[in-house]
Amino acid sequence: MAIPKQDVIFEAFLRWNREIQGVNILFATSEAVPFCKTGGLGDVCGSLPRELVPWGHQPVILLPAFRQVFRAGLPIDSTGVRFTVPIGQKQVEGHFLQSRLPGSDVPVFLVEQADYYDREQLYGEEGEDYKDNCERFTFFCQAALKAIRLLDLKTELIHCHDWCTGLIPAYIRTLEHLRPHYDSLATLFTIHNLAHQGNFWHWDMALTGIDWKYFNWRQMEFYGNLSLLKSGIVFSDTLSTVSPTYAREILHPPLSCGLEGALTHRREDLFGIINGVDYQQWNPETDEFLNAADYAGKPYGLDNFAEGKAACKAALQQEMGLPVRPEVPLLASVGRLADQKGFDLIARVIQKWSSWPASAGQPEVQWVILGTGEAKYHHVLSQLATAHPHQVAVRLEFSNRLAHIIEAGADLFLMPSQYEPCGLNQLYSLKYGTVPVVRSTGGLADTVVDLNEVTQSAGTATGFAFTEYTSLALADTIQRACRIYADKAEWHRLVAQGMQQDWSWRESARQYATLYEQTLERTRQGVLQ
Ligand code: ADP
Repeated sequence: MAIPKQDVIFEAFLRWNREIQGVNILFATSEAVPFCKTGGLGDVCGSLPRELVPWGHQPVILLPAFRQVFRAGLPIDSTGVRFTVPIGQKQVEGHFLQSRLPGSDVPVFLVEQADYYDREQLYGEEGEDYKDNCERFTFFCQAALKAIRLLDLKTELIHCHDWCTGLIPAYIRTLEHLRPHYDSLATLFTIHNLAHQGNFWHWDMALTGIDWKYFNWRQMEFYGNLSLLKSGIVFSDTLSTVSPTYAREILHPPLSCGLEGALTHRREDLFGIINGVDYQQWNPETDEFLNAADYAGKPYGLDNFAEGKAACKAALQQEMGLPVRPEVPLLASVGRLADQKGFDLIARVIQKWSSWPASAGQPEVQWVILGTGEAKYHHVLSQLATAHPHQVAVRLEFSNRLAHIIEAGADLFLMPSQYEPCGLNQLYSLKYGTVPVVRSTGGLADTVVDLNEVTQSAGTATGFAFTEYTSLALADTIQRACRIYADKAEWHRLVAQGMQQDWSWRESARQYATLYEQTLERTRQGVLQ
């Protein structure tokens, strides 16, 4: 679902418009690196705004002032601007803080409200969401509208991200008293993961201050609950998600997660734009963790990856307590330990593989897993590491450093996801010469080219892909990868093809720039509602 081609005159107009003034964009998001992150949303919202500046746009980021934000060690000042918003019957006070996106002039404003945001985690603890999440993010959405006026942001378009910001388009389109101030304000709502819907019991509708008449199956209601994600889908001017394949997949069950009606209704306004990679952070030549004085591996690039990766592999094996064996393929995975990510398949394959005797003809491999998430995966992965200490190493933590040194030291990166809106780790893996093994879904299907006879001879293969969601299909694909690994010349050719890919933000930022302009133009022309 690509952005429709513009005719020549309209393109020229857009270019002129961009050169003359650009667009003032408010990024309303609950995560942005390096302030706070739990997943890919943080990576995207910490990189995309910076990439829009060369296109003449003026992005501003708005985040909740979570406790994690203050731990990031970045300079944060008060704006001196306080505000109050109604939450149900209460009046709740907040305060805007300000900072800047490192390495740029992009302003970052933070919504301070200690009762809501000064907590250990962003959304919940020990597998339980915070009970007042609807209230916390209702407050944030109202604060976004306050920020535009009180901080004089001159915003023309709000780029909303995921359910936490779903009420922003709803407020703009439903609250009559806001109309004079915000009617020309355009909204783009990006879905990073449709499965995270922000569904709350219906009485939370009263917290929002939005009329109950909107609590119906066409608008904010979803199977008896209030759905913040559905509200964003219904009321935003345009919609996007983070890969063209996922944009198609979410129109139908099961990946539509019950929202096929709402999404199909808006299919003409739904675009798929793949996420880019911030190569300032994810580049094996300049990676700060590979350049650290106490790191036993070393940075590397396309010219010296064989030698560089060998050193990084030895360093990783050592740090993980695995035998240092250069000839054994090292398979890794990093991510949320959730069903979505296919960790049930990974655990089953490790279990079978490690219990087979070496004589069974199965190639020897080592496994490294980094992640946090569901208790059942913590349990089964820890058990596997204890049972097979020479083959399996598991770290149940969130560590950016480990994520980087795993990308550098592994031979293969496993992403057998049930579904994957975009996925970033396979893109990091390509850059680090760590060949991805993926299930062909969403962004994984859009970014990894399976090695087969045709792609091998054409020199276009970048990894290994399979379709069926079974441990057998994953095991077969790993076997296939191990056979190629044994042929060093063929392996190095595959690694080099992956490293040469360019998944920087350049092309994706261009597509977003075009989408902002289209959204604005359509809102101006009153095409919508
Ligand atoms: P999702 O957003 O669905 O979790 P993505 O692949 O889009 O998945 O992005 C995940 C991001 O979070 C990547 O940057 C990945 O490296 C990072 N990440 C996930 N788990 C961990 C962890 N335990 N330690 C460090 N980084 C992690």
